[in-house]
Amino acid sequence: MGHVELAELTKVFDNDGNELVAVNDLNIEIEDGEFLVLVGPSGCGKSTTLRCVAGLERTTRGEIWIGDEEVSDKKPKNRDIAMVFQNYALYPHMSARENMAFGLKISTDLSPDEISTRVDNTAEMMGIQDLLEKKPGELSGGQQQRVALGRAIVRDPEVFLMDEPLSNLDAKLRSSMRTELQDLQQELGVTTVYVTHDQVEAMTMGDRIAILNHGELCQVGTPLECYHHPDNRFVASFIGSPSMNFFDAEIQYSDVRTEILTDSFEYTLSESTVDRLTDRVTNAVLGIRPEDIRLASDDVSGIQATVTVTEPIGERTYVYLEIGDLSCTASMPGNLTFKPGEEIEIDIPEERIHLFDQETDEAVL
Ligand code: ATP
Repeated sequence: MGHVELAELTKVFDNDGNELVAVNDLNIEIEDGEFLVLVGPSGCGKSTTLRCVAGLERTTRGEIWIGDEEVSDKKPKNRDIAMVFQNYALYPHMSARENMAFGLKISTDLSPDEISTRVDNTAEMMGIQDLLEKKPGELSGGQQQRVALGRAIVRDPEVFLMDEPLSNLDAKLRSSMRTELQDLQQELGVTTVYVTHDQVEAMTMGDRIAILNHGELCQVGTPLECYHHPDNRFVASFIGSPSMNFFDAEIQYSDVRTEILTDSFEYTLSESTVDRLTDRVTNAVLGIRPEDIRLASDDVSGIQATVTVTEPIGERTYVYLEIGDLSCTASMPGNLTFKPGEEIEIDIPEERIHLFDQETDEAVL
């Protein structure tokens, strides 16, 4: 089956005597049929991880399991994977049909007729029959990527490995191809490891997402787990747009009440929230997502803020605020309008706040 496991996967590049740890001790288990997205900023080791799974890169340490086999020493063609690249990587002198058939010709003992039937069936499933006799140069980017996907699908592998397959497409096509790809993956039920640097793509496509930074795994979980319960400050800032607001804060505990003191405002924590803290840190970072900041209702005293800039984007309006010396962004309903310089009172709902240890950046709430 297409269960994939990375155990202590490590890849070190030697750049003229300078060692660069591109992937550091990665442990991820990917269920059979799961769509797992590897996401993180440029250079965090996503492609290297995928290339190690594909066998295009030799691992320095650790194990890669596909199904019941440890494949680290196997050639790419013996790993039962099919890879889709950002630049499509189609052979320019071959027609779409020949591109799709090529892998089957060289790595299986299927007859030409059987290969032809499989190519036709896959093309029909993907609605690309009328592209089959064309060469890549005659196809648009989106069509080329469909053919490249078809070439992966026709091989009927245990695992799809996809490296930013949609990033050369324009925004509209990218978004429709996202849905198409997800539907296909669900229909086929093939385990998929998908690399992207785009957190929206990761959130919308992945059954689970694995967030990497500097070659290390920061968190793996469902998109909503990572959004609502980030394990650390990096995940909190990477997932969600606009990004979470952070305020350095001191927490003062006492029997009567627990206060969070920032440079510009104070915040009282209820006992039940204090009980939920996993560590009673003193130096903390208070995090609040822009969409969780509300206008204070008339009967509650809120935090005084000054509007600096507003950005209406339709359904929401991004409101840039100053709270004393601190700046933050709020995402308010689009029907609300504000003027620069306007004084407002905001509410930061306690059930929506995040707290991180200032020293380790780990979440404590
Ligand atoms: P991007 O989103 O920009 O493609 P990435 O997260 O996929 O980035 P990788 O391409 O895996 O990152 O690169 C991780 C690190 O390893 C980077 O610092 C990169 O410069 C380095 N690296 C990648 N390939 C090689 C190589 N063949 N030789 C030396 N260093 C490499």
